Amino acid sequence: MKINLLTADVYNRIAAGEVIDRPYSVVKELVENAIDAGASEILIETEGGGKRLVRVRDNGGGIAQDDLKNAFSPHATSKLKCAEDLFRIQTLGFRGEAIASIASVSRMKIVSKTADGNAYSLLSDGGVLGEVCEAGGANGTEVTVENLFFNTPARLKFLKTDAQEEGEVANMISRFILSRPEISFTYSVNGKIKYRSFGDGLKSAIAAVYGAETLEHCFEISADKHGILLSGFIGNQNFSKPNRSYQSLFVNGRYVVNQTVSAAVTNAYGAYLMKRQYPFYVLNLTVPSEIVDVNVHPNKADVRFADNQVIYGSVYSVISSVLDGNSRALEYLADVPKPKAEPVATVAQSATIAQPVREAPKAESVPAPPPAPRMSYEQAKKELAFDVSPLAGKSPAPRFILPERNAVLEVNAPKREKTDAFEENRRFLLEEEKKAKQDKIDVSSLAFKGELFHTYLIYETGDCAYFIDQHAAHERLIYDRLRAGCEERNVVSQPMLLPFVLTVNASEFSFLEKNFSLLRGLGFEIDEFGGTSVKVSAVPADLQGIDLTAFFGEVLSCMESLRAIKLPDLLKDRLASAACKAAVKGGESLTESEVRALIEKMDGDMGLKCPHGRPVAVKMQRTEIEKLFKRIV
Ligand code: ADP
Ligand code: MG
Repeated sequence: MKINLLTADVYNRIAAGEVIDRPYSVVKELVENAIDAGASEILIETEGGGKRLVRVRDNGGGIAQDDLKNAFSPHATSKLKCAEDLFRIQTLGFRGEAIASIASVSRMKIVSKTADGNAYSLLSDGGVLGEVCEAGGANGTEVTVENLFFNTPARLKFLKTDAQEEGEVANMISRFILSRPEISFTYSVNGKIKYRSFGDGLKSAIAAVYGAETLEHCFEISADKHGILLSGFIGNQNFSKPNRSYQSLFVNGRYVVNQTVSAAVTNAYGAYLMKRQYPFYVLNLTVPSEIVDVNVHPNKADVRFADNQVIYGSVYSVISSVLDGNSRALEYLADVPKPKAEPVATVAQSATIAQPVREAPKAESVPAPPPAPRMSYEQAKKELAFDVSPLAGKSPAPRFILPERNAVLEVNAPKREKTDAFEENRRFLLEEEKKAKQDKIDVSSLAFKGELFHTYLIYETGDCAYFIDQHAAHERLIYDRLRAGCEERNVVSQPMLLPFVLTVNASEFSFLEKNFSLLRGLGFEIDEFGGTSVKVSAVPADLQGIDLTAFFGEVLSCMESLRAIKLPDLLKDRLASAACKAAVKGGESLTESEVRALIEKMDGDMGLKCPHGRPVAVKMQRTEIEKLFKRIV
């Protein structure tokens, strides 16, 4: 038999299968190229789930006229020159096969312009190249991929529905948005914008992907453990999700799914999570490139660490410290504020009390070159003073303080021996209580000085001014009372003049019905009203004027996660906080007697936080004000 040399387009078509197996891999490769080209703005469009059209346009460096043809040839890359470069890969792409592969199984067009050249375009039809032509266009590159797999029907057959393929594309784009918060992404599907990020930081990126509300339920962390940097946002103890699509890990800027890190996070959440609930996280793990191998998988979805134990230990200890609220958490929380006007009893103040005790704090804060993995593993082990295995049983729930919110939470905490962590937490709790007492001021000494923007009440006492967020305060008071009333079963209900009738779908109805007794415990008089309707005829007295449509909207919108939560306590918490949100409106001025009543009910407790963790009161010393006016320096 005669040996044939395959022509380039046939060879590429075969090879393409390895890199490009669905629309999402096309989008991934093209977006990675745009990122590697230094773009600050990337626009992505798909039609027909990406089968009909994928277009990625960027404002990066562009491809020069005489390089345009090379971009289409396999193993042509501008990102590697020699074998040694493989060990210091900074870019996302490096194999030089993506463009060639995609081109061979689609109709592809690249239009590109470098800063100092004209725009040129080149067409490829199933890998058969046309001629480089002059074109119009701004700096950067636009790659259009049409009719994917038109010449490989077998592959086409394996694609899922347009909606499913598009879903995977959207998922991946959301990960790009989160891993590159400095880049602005716009993603439109069949002409409609689905995601838009603004390139102004991780918070904004998370808001773009998950909605701004998500941030209210997160801790922002920023930790340096033995040269292993861990930063990002993790959901709080009550914020869990029904699946893993809310988990993103980026190792040195690459989105990966990694067993070691995933296990460390899951175990750190331990008892805080119910079955089939998954923590929310967006984490950036930055490790020295010599202890991580990114080249384990052709589509680069996983990485290998030189020492899994070190990674596990570091991630576990950072996240469990933050969740358990032990004093080390203060080192790991990113937004420990030190503003001029300090919220009363912020973490910043507590930090001076609850300094880490086990080691000299300096050692970790110096950004020294990372120690050898073996060494840091020993170190990490020593620091994990408690057992890191998943918990065996349950002990009576200790009271942990969450430093971020200052709220005392009853939780089913992990069963742990009397360890340092437990000791630390107890100490922290005591200090916090002491602090809270010190922060309590005598109400009669407060002189009301007026109100700002219908939102802030100003008080003076001695050499201090207090600014009180009246809505946060009000919300907090209602919340406390609802919770307490619920416990003591003495909530006062207020009948409504006109009952409120809500018609929902069947699954929502059965959810509400199951929770009738909890809702009644909170002071709602709620009953079936035929079909899938419910009737509310009384509300908790504190919530007169509550927007019931908003309240039920809020409750039903988190039904999925609430359903899985069996702890009535947590559920009550959610209900109470949803109720407050619907009850307290912003920018509404209070009468003088309402102001008086509010401050009296606060009973001088200036360290309170609203149910969403914002401070209720901010204190400013006279000296701080005088500094502003340069009366003193
Ligand atoms: P790789 O990214 O692995 O180098 P590709 O086949 O994805 O391989 O791309 C080949 C080459 O084409 C790249 O090395 C780069 O020089 C160029 N290129 C591709 N896309 C872009 C883009 N959006 N902007 C600038 N150059 C690009
Ligand atoms: Mg590439």
